[in-house]
Amino acid sequence: MDKETQLKEIAQKVAACQKCPLFKTATRPVFGNGDPNSQILFIGEAPGYWEDQKGIPFCGAAGKLLDELLSSIGLSREKVFVANVLKHRPPNNRDPLPEEIQACQEYLDAQIKIISPKVIVTLGRFSLTKFLPYAKISQDHGVGKIVNFNNLRLIVIPMFHPAAALRSLAIEQKLRDDFKKIPQEIERLEKILEGVSDVKAVPEEVKKEEQLTLV
Ligand code: URA
Repeated sequence: MDKETQLKEIAQKVAACQKCPLFKTATRPVFGNGDPNSQILFIGEAPGYWEDQKGIPFCGAAGKLLDELLSSIGLSREKVFVANVLKHRPPNNRDPLPEEIQACQEYLDAQIKIISPKVIVTLGRFSLTKFLPYAKISQDHGVGKIVNFNNLRLIVIPMFHPAAALRSLAIEQKLRDDFKKIPQEIERLEKILEGVSDVKAVPEEVKKEEQLTLV
């Protein structure tokens, strides 16, 4: 089965999901979209007002900034895949609750497994801490890490959330600078990965944290 068909199956499960109460207040789920064969997956937090209205990720003001940032490094929405930690909008755009993240986890994990990207760009702290539980966005933004996640070896590059950049000029500047560094971060970490080809070579205690502090 190709990746698109596999993703459609997961999208159907999301459409019927009642594992947390958010399905009651949301208008519709936002599964994610883009190229299922892309090497780069962007993961945001949760749908906002416009995403909930249209069923499309990052289609409001934060999405407009994301499009601009993508184009600054020669990418477009058609060339990447974009998903969120939560598939249903939390009321009034409040932060996702731990139990909602837990309930929705299987869908994002399935998306990651199917797409099997080389690179995950996290947008904001909720997607960052999925891969790097002890990371702090204010400290760790812009610098990629190699992470072992569910038997996949991933390059994870933490970015500020575009919505945070819309609220602060200082964060907007950092986000723009960090985005421009994405290609060089990928190149740097790919070089490191060339020297570490065996997933089993990861020490046991590092595996527990599902992160490999190579960098
Ligand atoms: N913010 C997010 O985290 N995701 C979206 O899809 C839109 C805004």
